[in-house]
Amino acid sequence: MSELPLLELKNVCTFYGPIQALYNINITVNRGEIVTLVGCNGAGKTTTLRTISGLQRAESGTIIYNGIDITELPAHKIASLGISHVPEGRGVFPKLSVDENLSAGAFLVKDKKTIQKRREEVYTLFPRLKERVIQKAGTLSGGEQQMLAMGRAIMQGGDLLLLDEPSMGLAPVLVDFIFETVVKLNQIGKTVLVVEQNARMALEIAHRGYVVLVGNIEMSGDAKVLSQNPDVQKAYLGG
Ligand code: ATP
Repeated sequence: MSELPLLELKNVCTFYGPIQALYNINITVNRGEIVTLVGCNGAGKTTTLRTISGLQRAESGTIIYNGIDITELPAHKIASLGISHVPEGRGVFPKLSVDENLSAGAFLVKDKKTIQKRREEVYTLFPRLKERVIQKAGTLSGGEQQMLAMGRAIMQGGDLLLLDEPSMGLAPVLVDFIFETVVKLNQIGKTVLVVEQNARMALEIAHRGYVVLVGNIEMSGDAKVLSQNPDVQKAYLGG
């Protein structure tokens, strides 16, 4: 018998007031996968992640995480079940230091040894953060803030990482580093759902992908196959 998906969105619709942003979205993420949502500005990628993590309510449809219906649960409860959301724009606390931001990420964790182990994990993945432990997060570069935001999610300890545009605004060398880190996180057991406008990079590291077009899933499948699809190439890969 095949394993149940870690995350499943069934016919999810989300509105902002009278404006419908998502139309019957169906997405499956299996344990151990990297899945990407690609699409243009305003397609609904951010809204999809916000609906999963409970920051935005689904008007209809169902979201199942690890066998639990999380559709109506508050965001803190969803986080405690193991979904760690790294938002667009990173959302670090600018006035807190790097180390304090990491501690804030572990707010749900009681065991001090676990917190220490995760902190070491973060500093091993991101040596640049270790050099800046007491620096205020607001003074970090965009790339360092992205590392910190991902570090905070690691401190939280979820099995599923939701990454919203991790490469946004970064220099190419840092984009490569961030994507390599996503692969490393996947290799150490994290399941990843990553939203990206950099479709080329996202489809390169992902196992599967979904193309989102005005709140609808336009296409989905194996990431390599999608990246070779002429329509995808024309619309999203500059081909
Ligand atoms: P981007 O890459 O620009 O963030 P996206 O694919 O993530 O794009 P969303 O941000 O999810 O797209 O937006 C989906 C739709 O919902 C768009 O039409 C957008 O204008 C609308 N929308 C997003 N946030 C709000 C809001 N707070 N109030 C009203 N409409 C919104």
